[in-house]
Amino acid sequence: MKIVSACLVGINCRYDGKSKPCKKIIELVKKGKAIPVCPELLGGLPTPRIPAEIKNNEVITRNGKNITEIYIKGAEEGLKIAKMVKAKIAILKARSPSCGYGQIYDGSFSNKLVKGNGVFASILESNGIKIKTEENL
Ligand code: SF4
Repeated sequence: MKIVSACLVGINCRYDGKSKPCKKIIELVKKGKAIPVCPELLGGLPTPRIPAEIKNNEVITRNGKNITEIYIKGAEEGLKIAKMVKAKIAILKARSPSCGYGQIYDGSFSNKLVKGNGVFASILESNGIKIKTEENL
């Protein structure tokens, strides 16, 4: 079983109230091979919401609020789902402060990228789950 970012299968859970559907990933869910998860909603955030980025290992909204704890809580809840279904692989949304893997935005809200992982990607990886993004399937 795989975990996939919910926004990649057409669930409108992104900060802007939209999604980024990806046909291949939707097929996995339809075939019962993947479960969609949105860690930010599991942490208690609403949709739409003010966007956030990671800076100095903290998650900060565009208006300066530190919401790191909410991201960690959501990632831990998502991890529970991953463990329950014995997921070995997660396919996550590139560059998100939760789901991004390898590259994330730098915290300046100016579309600049830095090396790093989102909070959910980090917690899954440290629990032995292999991470991919929709861009390197
Ligand atoms: Fe998509 Fe992950 Fe952001 Fe949820 S937290 S909207 S699943 S990228």
